[in-house]
Amino acid sequence: MSQRPIYMDGHATTPVDPRVVEAMLPFFTEHFGNPSSITHAYGWEAEAAVKKSRQIIAEAIHCSPDEVIFTSGATEANNLAIKGVAESYFQQGRHIITLATEHRAVLDPYDYLASLGFEVTKLPVQSDGLVDLEVLSQAIRPDTILVSVMAANNEIGVLQPLAEIGAMCHEKGVLFHTDAAQAIAKIPLDVEAMQIDLMSITAHKVYGPKGIGALYVRRRNPRVKLAAQIHGGGQERDLRSGTLYTPQIVGLGKAIELGLSEASEGERLGEMRDRLWSQLQTLDGVILNGHPTQRLPGNLNISIEGVDGNALLLGLQSIVALSSGSACSSTHIAPSHVLTALGRPEPLAYASLRFGLGRFNTPAEIEQVAPAIISTVQALRQANPKTKPSRR
Ligand SMILES: *Cc1c(COP(=O)(O)O)cnc(C)c1O
Repeated sequence: MSQRPIYMDGHATTPVDPRVVEAMLPFFTEHFGNPSSITHAYGWEAEAAVKKSRQIIAEAIHCSPDEVIFTSGATEANNLAIKGVAESYFQQGRHIITLATEHRAVLDPYDYLASLGFEVTKLPVQSDGLVDLEVLSQAIRPDTILVSVMAANNEIGVLQPLAEIGAMCHEKGVLFHTDAAQAIAKIPLDVEAMQIDLMSITAHKVYGPKGIGALYVRRRNPRVKLAAQIHGGGQERDLRSGTLYTPQIVGLGKAIELGLSEASEGERLGEMRDRLWSQLQTLDGVILNGHPTQRLPGNLNISIEGVDGNALLLGLQSIVALSSGSACSSTHIAPSHVLTALGRPEPLAYASLRFGLGRFNTPAEIEQVAPAIISTVQALRQANPKTKPSRR
């Protein structure tokens, strides 16, 4: 088998840490009970494991364990939060706010609610990807019921000012949801200090398994009312029915526990990312997308002038596994809505590379990938000299 490219697409998904797999395995076979079975030891064992994961998540984000609702991932958590709030609070107001740069798992539920008659405001961001707090403050109206702003962006890694947004929302009596799929166990999250009412997380961006996540739902100051979106056996305080997926829940807890214990990981990723960026800057016409410092340490997103985005990815695909600003959805090719929201013209949005460095990347891989990108760009520019980059 030919050698596979080096994986640097950690914002799409991450490999499961072998320690997470090890923690999960007994719950497929030996401890296979249904956590809702209260009449025998099989159920109790599974319930104890679920309880432990709930506890780990609660400690990670500073909430109480009964405020954690397990879901199939961040997409479902976002849907539960957004539709659940809309359905519970529509008599108080039908205006909901989010950002133009959110993940589709937030934007699409917003569009759906717009089709039902809710009024949706998608705020623009500044050229560095950050929300303008003054613009947000102006957008909140007496009939606004929800603000949803992501913690860390999945394309440009930008970290939004959660504590400032939370304080503003609580002062104005508006609920605050944050999609923390890319942030959990990578940056500090504190639902009390940041006054967050609802927070979505997922395991597979942080070295846990796919198909499991959770929604934090505030129960006091204020108590958030949420309409369930999946009805059935009444699990998760009736907010999300369905037999709890014990092995995945164990994996989610273990992944978060490991993420928190790897305290120097962010520093290590930041050093590799900075090394990569400084190498790539030896090329002319390379533009950083997103705020230079207020971003995830493993994230680098650049646009490259004078090359075709598709040709660039094709040229690199045997060397490094990356995403570009065009392949954001497998069903249609369009420039990234995040990069166009930053004001990048379409060709630059297409000709972009998103790096997501992670736990299993090494400095040696950076030294291998950076020169390969540089020579690929140079070769493409030579083949098509009409589109020369501007000199800086
Ligand atoms: C990956 C991701 C999601 C979707 O999470 P799933 O668990 O795959 O459903 C949502 N929001 C952001 C910001 C993401 O990065």
